[in-house]
Order: sequence, then structure tokens, then C-alpha cells
Amino acid sequence: MDFNLPRKKVLLAEPRGFCAGVDRAIAMVERALAVHGAPVYVRKEIVHNHHVVNMLRRKGAHFVDSEDEVPEGAVCVFSAHGVSPAVRANADARRLDVIDATCPLVAKVHQAARRVVRDDRTLLLIGHNDHEETEGTRGEAPEKTIVVETVEDVDRLEIDDDLPVAYLTQTTLSVDETAGIVDRLRDRFTDLAVPASDTICYASQNRQNGIKSLAGKADLVIVVGSENSSNSQRMVDVARDAGTAAHLLPDVSYLDESWLTGAETIGVSSGASVPEVLVEQLLDRLVEHGFADLEIESTSKEDVVFSMPQLAGAKRGGHGADQLGG
Ligand code: SF4
Repeated sequence: MDFNLPRKKVLLAEPRGFCAGVDRAIAMVERALAVHGAPVYVRKEIVHNHHVVNMLRRKGAHFVDSEDEVPEGAVCVFSAHGVSPAVRANADARRLDVIDATCPLVAKVHQAARRVVRDDRTLLLIGHNDHEETEGTRGEAPEKTIVVETVEDVDRLEIDDDLPVAYLTQTTLSVDETAGIVDRLRDRFTDLAVPASDTICYASQNRQNGIKSLAGKADLVIVVGSENSSNSQRMVDVARDAGTAAHLLPDVSYLDESWLTGAETIGVSSGASVPEVLVEQLLDRLVEHGFADLEIESTSKEDVVFSMPQLAGAKRGGHGADQLGG
């Protein structure tokens, strides 16, 4: 070995991986299985990670696309991304035993959406049209909500500039991209109400800040996360916007060794729905490729924990997450 050669290094972001909302949602499915026994039905992927979904499937969770697929009266868990009032009403009509794993921060956005419409404003919801969270929030007032995905969408809105409007965001967006869209809304609308607090969640913000720090020091950034995970995708965008090559990696089997060519320092992080074991598997593989040094790149401390609601005797079609703190 040539001891004069610089050793190849991994910079590992902290915080990374599971956020409080994901932790709580997974724990709720596990508790539902323990209390009610298998099968427990889960509407949509409980969180956007295939590894987590498969782990719960092995324990007896049965994933469905719609509450219509759940047998009448059976236990049905709503995912961390939240659901529309129409889904709640349908679950209620079908007498499902609902356990609501909506992240409390998503539930807060739903509450804010209801307030916007009560104040007789049109809601401009910044988010991805086809994402489950946006679908649920828009469902609070579909006739008064317009989804805005880009700055150009703001220009294309066919509404008067003096219409009373308000904006809210999906919780997992890119902070920087969203700021650009909000600036355009402020430029255009004369009566724009802004949310009382930021609706991009702490976990998305912290993971994006971590990526900015990695991108400044690494030749390549790898974000462990599933293709359908919005917050993981945004982390890749943030690295690329900073001018650093970046890839999303659902798990180590997707690693393309050509990415590593010429890299001396690789930044690694993971999305909010990613179990740590997937990161560990990547780190092991990188060691095999000579990335033997590991340094932690810490940009903030996370100590957020969301309390669990009572599951025994869970209210049918109830709005449990609205009452939770966090
Ligand atoms: S990413 Fe944010 S909004 Fe989504 S579950 Fe985690 S804390 Fe909640």
C-alpha cells in the first residue's frame, strides 16, 4: 500500500434517516398487529420505503390502494401522508376500525387548509400534484384549491391578481425551490395570506441542510431512498443544485460502480423513511471499494418525538392525528 496516497473517505450526514413521523407510523402498524392480530390493512404504503413495507408485510400487514378494498369492519391504518375527508367519510360509511398514522405535521397542514377556506380564500397548494400528501390536503377543499408545482405554474394561474389567496406547502419540498415559488406568488398577488409557520417539515429541512454541507466537501453524494420518496428526491436535487454529482439509491443492489470512478470523498445521507440498515449496507460496500475512512458531518441535532395515540378501541373514522401534539 502506498501510504502517501490520500485515503478515500465517506462523509456521513447527521441527522439522516427516520424522522419522528415515520417512526411513529411504523410503530402504529406494529402496535395494531400486536393488539388486533393479522391481517391489519394499511391504506397505501405506510411510508415511502419498500424495505419498510416488506418488513411489515412479513409481519401481517396487508397493503391496499383504497379503503374500498378493506373488508367492512376491519382494521385500516391510514399512512403517514394523510388522507382527504372523503376517504375518512368512506371509511366511516364502511365501518372500518381506523387507526390514523398521519404525521402530526401533515395534519397541521390539513388544519391550516381548513382555516384558509373558512377565511374564504383560494388555497394555492405548493406541491406535487400526484403525491399522496397533496391529494389528501387538496381534498380538504377541492373546489377552492389549486396545486402549484413550479414558478411557471404561478404565471399560468387563470385567476385575478387581487383574489384573496393563501399558500401552503407539501411538507417534503425543496426549501430553495419553494422559496422561488413563494417569491413569485408575493410578486403577483395583492392579497396573499402566508402560513403562520413554515409548512416544510423540520426533517426535510434538516436533511437538505445536511446535503448542502456534504455537497461542498464531497465529489459525489449518494442519498439512500426510494424512487417514490419525495423528501429523498429533493435531497438529490439539492446536491445537484449545489453542483455536485448525486444519485438516489433505493438499496445497495442499485449501486453503479462507475459512479465511484475518480471520487475521493463520497457524501452519504438517507431520506426520512429509510431504515439505517440500508445505509450500513452501502457503507460496507464502499469500504470494499477503498472508502475506508468514515467521518460524521453533523449539521443539527434532532430530538423530535411524536406521541402515540391510544389504539385499543380506536375511534371509527376518527381524526386522531388532529389531537396529537408535536
Ligand atoms: S418527513 Fe416530515 S412530514 Fe413526513 S413524516 Fe417525516 S416529519 Fe412528518
